[in-house]
Amino acid sequence: MSVVARNLAAVEARIAEACRKSGREPGAVRLLPVSKTKPPELIVEALAAGYRRFGENRVQEAQDKWELTRDEHPELEWAIIGALQANKAKYVARFATELQALDDLHVARELDKRLCAEGRQLDVLVQVNSSAEPQKAGIDPDAAEAFTRELAGFDALRPRGLMTLAVHSDDPASVRACFARTRAVQERLRDRDGGGWDELSMGMSGDFELAVAEGSTCVRVGTAIFGGRGDQAAWRRA
Ligand SMILES: *Cc1c(COP(=O)(O)O)cnc(C)c1O
Repeated sequence: MSVVARNLAAVEARIAEACRKSGREPGAVRLLPVSKTKPPELIVEALAAGYRRFGENRVQEAQDKWELTRDEHPELEWAIIGALQANKAKYVARFATELQALDDLHVARELDKRLCAEGRQLDVLVQVNSSAEPQKAGIDPDAAEAFTRELAGFDALRPRGLMTLAVHSDDPASVRACFARTRAVQERLRDRDGGGWDELSMGMSGDFELAVAEGSTCVRVGTAIFGGRGDQAAWRRA
């Protein structure tokens, strides 16, 4: 068994345990391995262990990996989990399966236009800034209702739910409060729309158990699967 496969199994067991503790079905949470800075060989190891969708925070890096792997592994799927600039929308429209970090209507408009030109649709999650830290991306929780109403006007974007990054803190209560805030936004949107908004992408290597306890349906885990990260370009030299 590869190290990656072993790490995946360990994370799966922790997710299952967190589900059990909070009375949730073990299958209620999907694990999205985050492969940023990691070479395609490790992604292929995770593919062999049953994972086909991978999270990348940079469009250029994701596209490079897509191009390197698409002939041999056309089943690989790419989830963009980092901020997207409008000038990169055309690339995302071409190859991504999911965008988890939508927080800008100008980007949404551009993305929709490019997707229509490609004849594609894209699952999107709206990123919520649940920690009120100014350096964090995401819309303010209070702006979510207005923002998501605008999204309904786009043909090619399929809003599926919300994504957030909790505050980076040793205090579990503050981390958990970020997840709870995001879940409260989800509840408001569901009440308004009579359902939908099923996805809650919350939790990373350091905090996914707390996120599962607060209702996460997708944990984005990098370090605990692929090990620590060097600089962004390291995978090209590997
Ligand atoms: C890098 C990253 C992750 C994974 O972080 P780890 O701590 O390595 O698990 C999750 N979400 C986003 C948005 C990221 O950029």
